[in-house]
Amino acid sequence: MSGVELESVRKVYPNGRAAIAAASFAIEPGELIVFVGPSGCGKTTLLRMIAGLEEITSGTLRIAGRVVNDLPPKDRDIAMVFQNYALYPHMSVAENMGFGLKLRGAPRADIERKVQAAAETLGLGAVLQSRPGQLSGGQQQRVALGRALVREPKVFLLDEPLSNLDAKMRLSMRVEIARLHRRLGTTMIYVTHDQIEAMTLGQRIVVLKDGVIQQIDTPMRLYRAPVNLFVAGFLGSPAINTLRGRYRTVAGGALEIAADTRLALGLSPAVCARLQQHDGCELVLGLRPEALRLATADQPAHWPRCTALVEVVEPVGSEVFVAMRWNTCALTARLPPTVLPAVGESLALSFDPDDLLFFDADSEARIDSA
Ligand code: ATP
Repeated sequence: MSGVELESVRKVYPNGRAAIAAASFAIEPGELIVFVGPSGCGKTTLLRMIAGLEEITSGTLRIAGRVVNDLPPKDRDIAMVFQNYALYPHMSVAENMGFGLKLRGAPRADIERKVQAAAETLGLGAVLQSRPGQLSGGQQQRVALGRALVREPKVFLLDEPLSNLDAKMRLSMRVEIARLHRRLGTTMIYVTHDQIEAMTLGQRIVVLKDGVIQQIDTPMRLYRAPVNLFVAGFLGSPAINTLRGRYRTVAGGALEIAADTRLALGLSPAVCARLQQHDGCELVLGLRPEALRLATADQPAHWPRCTALVEVVEPVGSEVFVAMRWNTCALTARLPPTVLPAVGESLALSFDPDDLLFFDADSEARIDSA
């Protein structure tokens, strides 16, 4: 098993485009790490530099402790699975899976043994003699995984491998990839723009924006303790609610959102003390949709309250997403399925102030982390 280390790795394309700015982090041996971010954030560039398909402008890249900056891809002991898996249509599944090994001159018996083992792992035993065209999208993607598997690489690199599949297939393949990782214990780097895929698959996630790493953390830490507004907004569906306003140091703290909209925050003395230096400053408060609840008489008296107008109701079976408006603020709540409000209805809402996240409105950095 091998780790991957990046030390100030930069990529500037020949046209001057800086795609990755000084990335420094280590991927542990056997870890499944996910690179995530919006289109153009640099995740594919980062992966391709690790693969050796893209030259590194500056910095050092190590795989299994060895500097590989100048090693060609075939000598890096990695295997890659792409979104466009490009199987050879005229070859059988078995031939497709073994083709890379054949090119490298591996003995036939070896190839057969490895293909058989990979087919068993991936549940492809029954279709080894079929042509790719006779398989479903999910099966074809498994063949592409198998092609990587037979190489027995030190590191697997997967670039949006599931984005050609329909939603249901994506879900089942996601589970298979997680199982495969657990079974093989090989280091895997997985690129996706899909935050759900990132959260469910990654042991750790690297969140990128404009070529800059924003945060590297476990899924739950990213969700609960994002370092900035971008990370808070990128992870979570429906997205985190944001309330923008001027913070006032009064007992329990308050947010002046508009001339006629002021929210008493009910913060603890410790949080108030931490926020004191931001008195009079423009802040953005983040609140996850599941933290917003219907107001009830038994909630603590210090919990903030507001009344919002229901605009859209989305029942998704296990819960209901309710989009609302409170004066100028848009709010979304995830409510239990027993609650099915009507559009136009007014809902009294409340939340525990401990669930609030505080961000500086200018820098967008989180300011309340102790
Ligand atoms: P996507 O999800 O859309 O694939 P990404 O996060 O993988 O996006 P990259 O493909 O790594 O992003 O691109 C990062 C930035 O580098 C983008 O602004 C892109 O336009 C630019 N870029 C990518 N390849 C090249 C190239 N060969 N020459 C110049 N600029 C490039």
